[in-house]
Amino acid sequence: MAYLNDNYLKLKAGYLFPEIARRVKVFCEQNPEPAKRLIRCGIGDVTEPLPAAVVAALHKSVEELSVRATFRGYGPEQGYDFLRVAIAQNDYRAHGLDVADDEIFVSDGSKCDCGNILDILGHQNRLAISDPVYPVYVDTNVMAGHTGDADAAGAYAGVVYLPCTAQNGFVPEPPSQAVDLIYLCSPNNPTGAVATRAQLTAWVEYARQHRAIILFDAAYEAYITDPAIPHSIYEIPGARECAIEFRSFSKNGGFTGVRCAFTVVPKSLLAQTAAGEFKPLHPLWNRRMSTKFNGVSYFVQRAAEAIYSPEGKTQVRALVEHYLGNAQVLVQGAKAAGLQVFGGVNAPYIWVQTPAGITSWQAFDKILNEANVVITPGSGFGSKGEGYFRISAFNSRANAEEVARRLQTLKW
Ligand SMILES: *Cc1c(COP(=O)(O)O)cnc(C)c1O
Repeated sequence: MAYLNDNYLKLKAGYLFPEIARRVKVFCEQNPEPAKRLIRCGIGDVTEPLPAAVVAALHKSVEELSVRATFRGYGPEQGYDFLRVAIAQNDYRAHGLDVADDEIFVSDGSKCDCGNILDILGHQNRLAISDPVYPVYVDTNVMAGHTGDADAAGAYAGVVYLPCTAQNGFVPEPPSQAVDLIYLCSPNNPTGAVATRAQLTAWVEYARQHRAIILFDAAYEAYITDPAIPHSIYEIPGARECAIEFRSFSKNGGFTGVRCAFTVVPKSLLAQTAAGEFKPLHPLWNRRMSTKFNGVSYFVQRAAEAIYSPEGKTQVRALVEHYLGNAQVLVQGAKAAGLQVFGGVNAPYIWVQTPAGITSWQAFDKILNEANVVITPGSGFGSKGEGYFRISAFNSRANAEEVARRLQTLKW
């Protein structure tokens, strides 16, 4: 008799995006005319085409595969050297940060890396996760059996939730108790908040004091406009001893469908064995990737490399500025509608407070029915997201302007 993984049964059924899809489907079936003007600002997916330098690199590398002399089969599981060097050089060493080429592990996505990293970490670890949060951090821990059951409010036993509220500017503070693993995401999905140097320094000090590990998700790093905000956790002294960084080409180069990302595991990062000895995690991640992964396709890695070419950098900048321009339009529109607005300056997300007494899902239904716009209810990201909704700036400028206009027509 075979057993299933019971932990999966602890996952809350009404997962956010399927529930949004269900409500949108019902709306479209019942309102065929208004459905034609529907604008989706829900799921955080890019809308604009790939940068020209990326497309050129894709064509060129596919051609190479069509010729025997330049054909390539399996590549290194950790990524081709040309890409690891380009990443370490451009994203780190050019900014004075000490990251070696072989500390970069190329993958098919940060979502996968955020889940897969649990393979090399012990089941005993006590977790700290922000509330609201990118659901992947929580759900992968539930699947791995690192939590108990969810309570009525959807909070899992055994997780230390770090509240992110208007009072702390949506940036979590280190908890009073000891935890071992801390998930931080800056710029933040869903709130659009960014952690300051002082806030990240407090986290690194906490992690070093408790010999904890920070899992730092910097997927939206390219959206930072404030020069004082760190782009990498390794800008904080001591972070090489306590942090793993996740980055992705999804939101800068528009690779959500192409699939490429990377994880930085410093060789100086140690964790404890069950017997109490400290050992480096780098060889474990290297082993995990070699055993369970066969690398990202050659042409996708060439496409990612093109992001670091002079033309690629200019084109990526233009893409990011397009989305940040949308964010400004949406921020202004929501403010003009009398709403309390956060984020949207160093991130492609606008975090909006619902008018008093209105829940996130009530706001979702009203905006869908009356403005024909799909947003994301904040409560889907955690209990502290209740009373907020997220508007994504991933859209055309015309759509962002139309959404800004429609928000102002709503009577709450
Ligand atoms: C989009 C996103 C990522 C990137 O995921 P990929 O799998 O690389 O596309 C990572 N973290 C967060 C919080 C995101 O929103």
